[in-house]
Amino acid sequence: MSDPYARLGVRRRINAAGALTRLGGAVMAAEVVEAMAAASRASVDIGELQDAASARTAQATGAEAGLVTTGAAAALTLAAAAAIARWDVAKMAALPHADGFPRDILIPRTHRTGYAHALAASGARLVDIGHNDRGTGAGVRGLEAWEIEAALSPSVVAMAFSANATSLTDLPTAIAACRSAGIPLIVDAAAQLPPKENLKRFIAMGADLVAFSGGKALGGPQASGILAGRRDLIASALLQQLDMDVAPETWTPPRLVDRANLRGVPHHGIGRGFKAGKEEIVGLLTALERFVTADDAADNARLEARLKAIAAELGGHKATLVPASVTGRVPVLEITVPQALAVSARLQHGDPPVHLSERHAQRGVLTLDPQVLLPEHDAPLVAALRAVL
Ligand SMILES: *Cc1c(COP(=O)(O)O)cnc(C)c1O
Repeated sequence: MSDPYARLGVRRRINAAGALTRLGGAVMAAEVVEAMAAASRASVDIGELQDAASARTAQATGAEAGLVTTGAAAALTLAAAAAIARWDVAKMAALPHADGFPRDILIPRTHRTGYAHALAASGARLVDIGHNDRGTGAGVRGLEAWEIEAALSPSVVAMAFSANATSLTDLPTAIAACRSAGIPLIVDAAAQLPPKENLKRFIAMGADLVAFSGGKALGGPQASGILAGRRDLIASALLQQLDMDVAPETWTPPRLVDRANLRGVPHHGIGRGFKAGKEEIVGLLTALERFVTADDAADNARLEARLKAIAAELGGHKATLVPASVTGRVPVLEITVPQALAVSARLQHGDPPVHLSERHAQRGVLTLDPQVLLPEHDAPLVAALRAVL
């Protein structure tokens, strides 16, 4: 088969930085590629396909329903749009212009990542709450219930929460406060996989909507993701994503959508530009099934063996293996280098270009994250590291 990247004059890269979106995310298994190719050669009703996707993603996450999106960021925009519009077709038609109705989403200050833009893109107004103490290291306290309660008003439609190892301790507080206020909690869990237990974790704790990336650890198509959660909110999100150029007389809504709740047939919504294609939907579901049934312990043991072999070949350079039990996801190799960012830049400009994770560069560490590192890249990676170090 001809190499599409070579034809385009685009270089292949050695990726030891993780499933980063800017490096193309996951590398898909052949089974996923084949499922997508087979899916591409037929016509199907996308609403019917999303109904099937809802059943599969609901089973995998423990949620009432689910939706395949074009990524976790798109899932966040749709989640916010669902919280604002619910079943109201007039609000769906108005978004992102929402100044005429309730549209505030509470967001703890330390959760205001670059991905908060995806929530705001719906038309939501983000309202910062809480203090920065634990997030900035200025103090010991995290989010407190009163900080959420004090910000509640009739214009608040939801609260957003960005899940990670540090923020997780505050999740029960947020869930309890949202429950008693009757507003949905939207959790960004885009990069919280593995471990696969996290697919169910946030829903089990009581989150109303949870967003996952399909193109990172799940190993699905790069432009895919999951929004899982409450059935009514997922239905609203789906309606705002589907192609709605339909005749009301002949439109067969997806089973997720209870037409009695709609006073009319929605037009194209805010999510029309985030359409998930049949290939992405089938590819994501195939990858999800593989991810759920994978033997994480065996996979991590294989990765650890590869990392140990790489470390042994780095000679005198300090390389520390951090096992999956400590990282909470895959094992990584932390390589201590003076001027980590300068070394990283040289690796990226090499031939072939090599990427290590810069997440701990500030403390003089480049992290070899093997999540999507191809086994055949181990040897050229060692050669590049030895040359630069
Ligand atoms: C990657 C990421 C996203 C966006 O995910 P996509 O699937 O690329 O849209 C959102 N939030 C966080 C925390 C992420 O790491």
